Amino acid sequence: MIKDLNSDQWFTGGQIAKDVASLRQHFINLKVRQSDLALVCLDNSAVYPVITQAFFEMGIIEHPVAATTPIAQLQSEFNEHEYALVVVKEELAAQITNDSKLERTSIHLTTEDNLAVFINTKLVSDREIENPTEPGEEDLALILNTSGTTGKPKRVGLTHRILNNAAHHDIESHELTEDDTTMIVMPMFHINAQVISTLSTRLSCGKIVIAQKFSASRFWQQVADNGVTWVSVVPTIISILLINDKANLIYSQLRDQIHMRFVRSSSFSLPENKFIAFQDKFDTQILEGYGMTETSSQCTINPFNAQKIGSAGKAFGTELAILVNGKYETNDTEIGEIVVRGDHVISSYIDPQPTSFQDGWFLTGDLGYLDEDGYLFVKGRSKDMINRGGEKVAPAEVQSILSQLDFIEEVAVIGMPDDLYGEAVTAVIKPKDSMADHDEMEQKLFDYAQFNLAKFEQPTQVYFVEDFPRNPTGKILRPKLKDELLSVSAGK
Ligand code: ATP
Ligand code: MG
Repeated sequence: MIKDLNSDQWFTGGQIAKDVASLRQHFINLKVRQSDLALVCLDNSAVYPVITQAFFEMGIIEHPVAATTPIAQLQSEFNEHEYALVVVKEELAAQITNDSKLERTSIHLTTEDNLAVFINTKLVSDREIENPTEPGEEDLALILNTSGTTGKPKRVGLTHRILNNAAHHDIESHELTEDDTTMIVMPMFHINAQVISTLSTRLSCGKIVIAQKFSASRFWQQVADNGVTWVSVVPTIISILLINDKANLIYSQLRDQIHMRFVRSSSFSLPENKFIAFQDKFDTQILEGYGMTETSSQCTINPFNAQKIGSAGKAFGTELAILVNGKYETNDTEIGEIVVRGDHVISSYIDPQPTSFQDGWFLTGDLGYLDEDGYLFVKGRSKDMINRGGEKVAPAEVQSILSQLDFIEEVAVIGMPDDLYGEAVTAVIKPKDSMADHDEMEQKLFDYAQFNLAKFEQPTQVYFVEDFPRNPTGKILRPKLKDELLSVSAGK
């Protein structure tokens, strides 16, 4: 069952099956068929998983993109790739009509929604209407872009087999059953909502409640009203729930009606103080996991009742090692590159093709270590390492120490150009109180760093920002942040 919080309406399994069947028939009539590409640019709603399901069943390859994708970017998608079908939110329809290849059709789903469907007439017009055959396991089901945190996003092709394996690992590690209800507050074009929340719930016959967006003030009310038992979120949501007064008030009023088994956190490291505060304040377990688009879901997750604070948990359904001095180490390791392999990991990109595959392993580009119990501690990305006169500084390490300072809401540590050392360790602070005195905070930070960090790790300069440039899942875009700060200092 799926509930759409926009319309406040539950759609039963029977209704969804009927909608999927009717959508399939529309696609057949439009002569869209197996291996065709379909672009989806929609806000979160109950119609999203229905469309995805129809595509999966027909072997149409879905490429979901952020609902906020600018029209110019969509146009270049259409120019670079041969889409047979395009489904967008109604607001974008007028702008797309200018594209000569695409012609608008009128599909009306039973679960009527605010969407526009276009067909590539040049591609399909000479075709006959055919009945679809079932796609094979190795056929592509989804093409997802990576988040573009480190540069241009990479296109990742996920097969039906890879997606099913990933979802089954998620079901087992999260102990999902038909009694579970998840609420999706993350954007649905991303791997997190696509597989961890939607596919795993569909395959374990649970319920899905879909919010168009995360709302701190409504979150606990939505959880209580809909019997939500788990959610998959990013650390930013955890931080906002902790400080939002209304969220705290509503939680205290409704706590007897809330039966949340766990809150899953991933995408970037959850600061230790946030983990502790959240578990104390809201009576639920946090399970931090680690994964990426290329692994179609998670590689590690903290086990229930055996979480290690600051760790992304243990490998589950994945083989995981740390590449240290050319060796693949699996226990009690030093910091090195995290490498993974398994039945849910891609073996090549669609494009571009970075050299990320070696000896059967996928090289994640992330740094971390495994402790003596096999728990993974992620320490940032190799691309983000700061080189201060030959000494390597892991930003994640410095960030986790600085985030203990009580005036800091969020901190990013980056390397800024420096005449003497090549790069200077630079702390960029989003303060809790935007009116607080910058000089005072800076001095406190330097004093704290002197006691808690090695000399070469101590930030030598501090910037204050109101917020960070982020991608749609809330990740800080570090290259963009660096560019912004460079233009600020150039203008000084
Ligand atoms: P791009 O590859 O385009 O630069 P991206 O790596 O951010 O973008 P995603 O696939 O959405 O794109 O994110 C996966 C990455 O998120 C991982 O490689 C890792 O760097 C980070 N990540 C995920 N979970 C965690 C976690 N628990 N702790 C720290 N980092 C995490
Ligand atoms: Mg990546």
